[in-house]
Amino acid sequence: MNTMAIASFDIEEHHRIEAAVGLAITPQLRAEYASRMEQATRRLMDQLAAQNIRGTFFIVGEIARTHPQLVRDLHAAGHEIGSHSWDHRRVHRFQPATFRADLLTSKDALEQTIGAPIVGFRAPTFSVMKETAWAIDVLADCGFEYDSSIFPVRHDRYGVADAPRGPFVVVGPEREMLELPPLTYRMAGLNLPVAGGGYFRLFPVVMMKAGLRQMARGPAPQVGMLYFHPWEFDPDQPRLPLRGLSRWRTYVGMRRTMQRLTQLLKSFTFHRAIDVVRAIRAAGYQLPRYRLAAA
Ligand SMILES: [Zn+2]
Repeated sequence: MNTMAIASFDIEEHHRIEAAVGLAITPQLRAEYASRMEQATRRLMDQLAAQNIRGTFFIVGEIARTHPQLVRDLHAAGHEIGSHSWDHRRVHRFQPATFRADLLTSKDALEQTIGAPIVGFRAPTFSVMKETAWAIDVLADCGFEYDSSIFPVRHDRYGVADAPRGPFVVVGPEREMLELPPLTYRMAGLNLPVAGGGYFRLFPVVMMKAGLRQMARGPAPQVGMLYFHPWEFDPDQPRLPLRGLSRWRTYVGMRRTMQRLTQLLKSFTFHRAIDVVRAIRAAGYQLPRYRLAAA
């Protein structure tokens, strides 16, 4: 099996990003971001169609209520629909019972909209971490087949630095789950988060490509999970009132993102996350097991 690259998209309006938590956003600006989110997502859909690629879209559940046609069109185009929580709160803001309610509300709204099961999850801001290990039990309980929320990096906002870099079985307090971690590049004893975000906007695609090539030289199954957001492809959107590092991190390099995505999509073979999950199961790999919860 060659490296299976996955183009995943976290579908949320721009004002929901973690850096904007606590900012007062006017209803007019919310409405504008909602409309721009739909336009940018449709541009991404067109680009994927032009290159004959199917992706995985982790969508905020509320968007199934506000933009049902967008969600149906993504599904009809052959893309996988996954959950990105109900309203984009980090897992840290929940207890197991309230997280379960949030997950089921999101899953149900998306399933009602597309008429098909939702089996994949990505937590807002990759917030499945050691302190939220109980989320694995809840995900398994709610019928999810895989998670893609554990970033094996050291970062100020997210990450589980010593988690495996390839697909693994994440062991929670009581249940376990197949995990597809976002792509990293191993260099000088560190894992660089090259899967998306600032790395994608700041550097030429050479870092992502290097990550995918490094993965190809590693043990099977070789999977390269990339992630993007619609607002990263909308350079003319109104700016949020962010300051300093946060502002720079959010808006750096946005002019050339569509061109870079197009180039990247040409260079590797892309699959939907669910198809990768099925291929891994069918091949019967003994995946590494990683206990997220404290023993
Ligand atoms: Zn998100």
